[in-house]
Amino acid sequence: MTLDSSIEFLKGVGPERAKFIRNVLGISTVEDLLTFYPLRYIDRSKIHRIGNLVEEPDAEIQLKGKITDVQEIGYGKGKKRLVAKFRDESGTMELVWFRYSKWMKDQIPINRDIFIFGKVNLFNGNFSMAHPEIEVDEKKALSGTLLPIYPGSEKLSKRGISNKFFQITIMEILRNLPSLIEENLPDSMMKKLKLIGRITAFYNIHFPKDLAHFEYANRRIKFEEAFFFQLGYGLKKQHQKTSVVGNPFPVVGENFNHFYENFLPFELTNAQKRVLKEIRTDLKKPIQMNRLLQGDVGSGKTMVALLSMLIAMDNGFQSCIMAPTEILAQQHFNGISELLENTGIKVRLLTGSTKTSERKTIHQELLNGELSILVGTHAVLEDVVQFKNLGLAIIDEQHRFGVAQRAKLWAKNKIPPHILVMTATPIPRTLAMSFYSDLDVSVIDEMPVGRKPIITAHRRDKDRLSVFRFAKEEIEKGRQIYFVYPLIEESETLDYKNLMENFDHILEFYSEYNVTMLHGRMRPEEKETNMKYFASGKAQIMVATTVIEVGVNVPNASVMVIESAERFGLSQLHQLRGRVGRGAEQSYCILLTSDKLSKESRTRIKTMTETNDGFKISEVDMQLRGPGDILGTQQSGVVDFKKLNLVADGNIIKLAKNTVDELILHDPHLQKPEYLSLRNYYVKQYKGKNKWGRIS
Ligand code: ADP
Ligand code: MG
Repeated sequence: MTLDSSIEFLKGVGPERAKFIRNVLGISTVEDLLTFYPLRYIDRSKIHRIGNLVEEPDAEIQLKGKITDVQEIGYGKGKKRLVAKFRDESGTMELVWFRYSKWMKDQIPINRDIFIFGKVNLFNGNFSMAHPEIEVDEKKALSGTLLPIYPGSEKLSKRGISNKFFQITIMEILRNLPSLIEENLPDSMMKKLKLIGRITAFYNIHFPKDLAHFEYANRRIKFEEAFFFQLGYGLKKQHQKTSVVGNPFPVVGENFNHFYENFLPFELTNAQKRVLKEIRTDLKKPIQMNRLLQGDVGSGKTMVALLSMLIAMDNGFQSCIMAPTEILAQQHFNGISELLENTGIKVRLLTGSTKTSERKTIHQELLNGELSILVGTHAVLEDVVQFKNLGLAIIDEQHRFGVAQRAKLWAKNKIPPHILVMTATPIPRTLAMSFYSDLDVSVIDEMPVGRKPIITAHRRDKDRLSVFRFAKEEIEKGRQIYFVYPLIEESETLDYKNLMENFDHILEFYSEYNVTMLHGRMRPEEKETNMKYFASGKAQIMVATTVIEVGVNVPNASVMVIESAERFGLSQLHQLRGRVGRGAEQSYCILLTSDKLSKESRTRIKTMTETNDGFKISEVDMQLRGPGDILGTQQSGVVDFKKLNLVADGNIIKLAKNTVDELILHDPHLQKPEYLSLRNYYVKQYKGKNKWGRIS
């Protein structure tokens, strides 16, 4: 028997049950069963009284008393159930069995002190318990240990696979086959970190003697999950740094210097300078850069990107910058073209709607090296787009790009290009530590000078008129306004109708001004025309759906009104808010909601009004939505930890990360004898499954 053996060979299981358990719970091996952790524990030393019962769905409790009477009661078409009266000094209740045998019925002890155990239901003011466990032995009942309750289901118990089945079967493994559970952490590490051994941990996670024992076991098991997960990333990063060659960019030359000295429209912030230095240091080495650039909306990531591309150019390499939407790509193109206008450096834009003739030119110029900087959307990834020597690829707003797409970028050059991933959605600390630990991270944590923090206010629908008036006053001062409406797939038609109606209202209320519009149903040319109309200042008001969410840059816009703000997620709200506050004027974000808000929407709105700090917002967002949603569907599968909780276990994750870093520094290939078992376990558990095969 090994950990990989089928559970069918365990005592009391057999092929039938094994198959059923596999189908329902996905448990097939002994190891699966050992890591099928209890959902919670029940303190069997505690006895409840019928007179004091309260309604508590799903709570399993123990009572002490006597069964005074048992009867079969017919109901429905020839169906019968067994009903018993149970009493203690404080009252009586019914016990019910819907499935039973005659043998079982005869076994029920009458007028004897017994302990019963199960879930109580409240029906018509009376408590009852279905299918209670009965124990006549007081010692066994009051065993004093915490009894595990496994995440079972009705479906399972109907097939005779009860909670007790799991208790017995798992106990069986722990008692008779402890040698299967091999220690996978070195002694020195366990001692240093005060971690208990693996066998003890498994024993105490299933059958803790008390709360303290449970805590030790829980900590050890969580650590193990975090540690091996991080080890995967750590080794991958190590591998990248030592074996994935990159093109070194040793010089900073003409293109960079000429631009920096003559055309830089502002002084870089210290944070921008620092990040640029970090990138520069990476690029000098003959190792592929994989860097994540985090910086809140408006912190000036584009300039860092442009300057990096100029360095690539100085070293004879091409670069590309990709954005997730046409509008954004267009905007990057406009901004970068404008900045480079008098430098003689050529930039082109490639998106899905680029005309065939222009497309041909781009393909040609990329191949012969005439074009050094390409701005685009996913269209850049298409196989027909071939570069002469792509040296740097920049991805803006990375969470919208998938793993496969990033892999395509790697393949665009024989020696993979350096990769800079830019995101305005700060990633919570624990997630960054877990999921981006194969990337180096740079942070722009400082806003350009002269920015005033955006003032955010929450208003109810009934205050709409005063909000509209306020916006009008801002327009009179020369500012521009966004009105944003939700557009959500399920009710798209309705939302769309709603959007049009609101558009009419706004036209009416602001009849002396120009209003334009942006939504997902428009053709790209139409979007572009309307965007230009607003960006040029000809329109004072932009009515839009979330298509303007990322990146849109109109510094003169100072008010963002978000309608039905309760329907937006936190990071979405933060992104939207980032569309204002881009100039020197005081900016406002007004969140309009209905009167009735769910608890969660209230938290979102409150967080928005209390802070402008994207990192804080991302932490709250993760608490509300869970890490899977934050990482996006691409990676949500990887957050399937059994015990580790990415929201709550920050300390353990940090400890594991530091331990991994130290280990890799100390022995990068895990070759020392003391790491043998660790290495074996890692190879077996993780490498084979390649759970984190993400390419950055
Ligand atoms: P994001 O990080 O959100 O992509 P952008 O790169 O779009 O931010 O920059 C936001 C605005 O701030 C732009 O108008 C840009 O020109 C301006 N900006 C960037 N860096 C600075 C700076 N150091 N000083 C002043 N303005 C800056
Ligand atoms: Mg940007």
